[in-house]
Amino acid sequence: MNYPYVIVGGGHAGAAAIEGIRAHDPTGGILLLARENHPPYQRPPLSKQLWFGKSTKDELPIYDPAFYRDQHVDLVLRREAVEIDPEGRRVWDDRGVAYDYGKLLLATGARPRRLAVEGAEAEGVHYYRSLEDYLFFENQLTRFQHALVLGSGFIGMEMAAALRHAGKEVTLLYPEEYPLRRVLPRPLGLFVADYYREHGIETVSGESIVRFEERGELIAHTTGGNEVTTQLALVGVGVEPSTDLAEAAGLEVGNGIEVDEYARTTDPHIYAAGDVAEFPYLALDRRMRIEHWDHAIQHGKAAGANMAGANRPYTTMPFFYSDLFDLGWEAVGEVDGSMDTHPVWKVEHREGVIFYLHDDVIRGALLWNVWDHVDWARQLIREAKPMGAAEREKLVMASVGA
Ligand SMILES: Cc1cc2nc3c(=O)[nH]c(=O)nc-3n(C[C@H](O)[C@H](O)[C@H](O)COP(=O)(O)OP(=O)(O)OC[C@H]3O[C@@H](n4cnc5c(N)ncnc54)[C@H](O)[C@@H]3O)c2cc1C
Repeated sequence: MNYPYVIVGGGHAGAAAIEGIRAHDPTGGILLLARENHPPYQRPPLSKQLWFGKSTKDELPIYDPAFYRDQHVDLVLRREAVEIDPEGRRVWDDRGVAYDYGKLLLATGARPRRLAVEGAEAEGVHYYRSLEDYLFFENQLTRFQHALVLGSGFIGMEMAAALRHAGKEVTLLYPEEYPLRRVLPRPLGLFVADYYREHGIETVSGESIVRFEERGELIAHTTGGNEVTTQLALVGVGVEPSTDLAEAAGLEVGNGIEVDEYARTTDPHIYAAGDVAEFPYLALDRRMRIEHWDHAIQHGKAAGANMAGANRPYTTMPFFYSDLFDLGWEAVGEVDGSMDTHPVWKVEHREGVIFYLHDDVIRGALLWNVWDHVDWARQLIREAKPMGAAEREKLVMASVGA
């Protein structure tokens, strides 16, 4: 079989690439090879809206089934790409079917990092990434009363809130001093830990799991010599990019598949986008790999467009977001809790803007319960102008009303 465009991976990036291609080539055949059992669907609601009754499963699909037909896309589900021959421009799936491509997109995303401790293969230890995982948890809800959530990144935080909202007892355990350590400044992180406790979640900081044991229930042994008895553990200790195919094909791989500003890998016929790709973030003048929804969509679209000849660099400054019970936020740029930060509050820890600075230049902004200001933040980052604290406060006052 021969296709001008083959997309591997049916996540946000792979799905968005179809639109990017179609904006520049209305008819060239597209094959989308997707390992999962479902046509491309929205991932963010799996740990948020679905649990809080704000969305339903029938709202998950990214496109109507008719879209694939109308756009001449052959959607092949439950099929994994297992090998690429870059010279022959051919890719094989796990049933031995070969597809010749003009341009290939690797949108293989990321997978949960596994816990490498004794007993981690126990039946009660789970990871959370896909719709299948959501369906599993939904199905198990009546079978457990207590869950141990490991890790205080986005998945751990959101799923702890989701399971608590579903009426479960939840212990949230993390090695850092406070949750979301990679993103939040310390005082805000400590506030979030308190906020979770107010919602009935037991938080345990500064601890990791060293061993699981099955004794009827699941016993998790911690670094501090404590035991947590639970029925189910949800491990959210980060993800790793699915780069195996690219590595085997001899493409350059660093902290992800290396691509240029056109989303092109070191092979001119192969592109990569989304969670799996390390790309030049032009507005920040550095290379990055981003594991967020908006980036996956915009980067996927850009890659698709360039596969179809657009020849346009990816200049988007993607935003990302999360919801923690009633607290919600959006962020853009370099948002790293270890940077110099300057919070400007309208209501302390409830509503405000946190700037992430390098030599007094705004590199990133976290809009904490502040909405519709992503473009404003983007503009400040693009300007890259050194600014004192008073000037930043005035800016927030003028536009957010702090
Ligand atoms: C539960 C959850 C909630 C999230 N919430 C938010 C949020 O609130 N805000 C936010 O900004 N981001 C959020 N994210 C992150 C966001 O969803 C990801 O950044 C985005 O899904 C990445 O899209 P992607 O297409 O690059 O990769 P993925 O979504 O990982 O998709 C890659 C797909 O490729 C498939 N695949 C891999 N290898 C192969 C192969 N060899 N052959 C065929 N198929 C293959 C995989 O099975 C997968 O379906 C969330 C993620 C999860 C899991």
